[in-house]
Amino acid sequence: MRHILVGNWKNFPNSIQEAETLISTLSKSSRAFKNNKISLFLAPPTPFLDLVNKKAKRFSSLAIQDLPISPIGTYTGEITLDMIKSFGPKVTILGHSERRALGESDEGVSMKARMALKAGMVPIICVGEEVHDHEGNYFQFLSEQIRASLRGVKKEEAKNVILAYEPVWAVGAKSKGSMDGAELAQMVLFIKKVLTEMFSRGVAEKMAIIYGGSVDENNAHSLLKQSRARGLLVGRVSLDAKKFIALAKSLAK
Ligand code: PEP
Repeated sequence: MRHILVGNWKNFPNSIQEAETLISTLSKSSRAFKNNKISLFLAPPTPFLDLVNKKAKRFSSLAIQDLPISPIGTYTGEITLDMIKSFGPKVTILGHSERRALGESDEGVSMKARMALKAGMVPIICVGEEVHDHEGNYFQFLSEQIRASLRGVKKEEAKNVILAYEPVWAVGAKSKGSMDGAELAQMVLFIKKVLTEMFSRGVAEKMAIIYGGSVDENNAHSLLKQSRARGLLVGRVSLDAKKFIALAKSLAK
């Protein structure tokens, strides 16, 4: 089975010129991504959707970082789902911790997940605890967050949902760094148990669980090897072409 590799560019790079350089460097090593071990999704910020769509189609699929939900009417400054859909994104990240920090709620995430499924897109729903406490309270937190973020998703649709386990304490430059593979293995099993309770064992087995949080070219391979995670969601390193190519190569081993 192919590894899912998602590059989340967040709100970077700062200019179209830099975005072009990044894509052209990735493109020169596209063989690292275009192999039968990886399905690559690139999630650029909205202004660069067209560029990525046109220049990276050969070796990646387009993803978006959130689903726009503009009310019906005329709203200067808003963008609509139909506009985004015209670029043909296959997947959308939802409920990223950086969006949750801006006020995105579990209810908002579940509503967007249902919208994405209706629009034929695969939602990548991000979940993860802020604190990995010694008492294990994060298990309860995670279970509740998963249930609330997937509320209303029908059993027959659930197999098209990807769960991204992104412990908040491991995400971003100021984080504590990645979780280790053995611990990730335990968390993936726990998430599978929650999904089994929500849907069924058969459905839960079909749902991909991926990991994100300080993944780089040095830990990517062992995180996947030690756990049953199906792939990786990568932030910072996806903006560094050299490192991202090295990461992809490490997965192809
Ligand atoms: C992310 O943005 O989802 C992420 C995991 O970031 P980073 O890889 O930089 O920790």
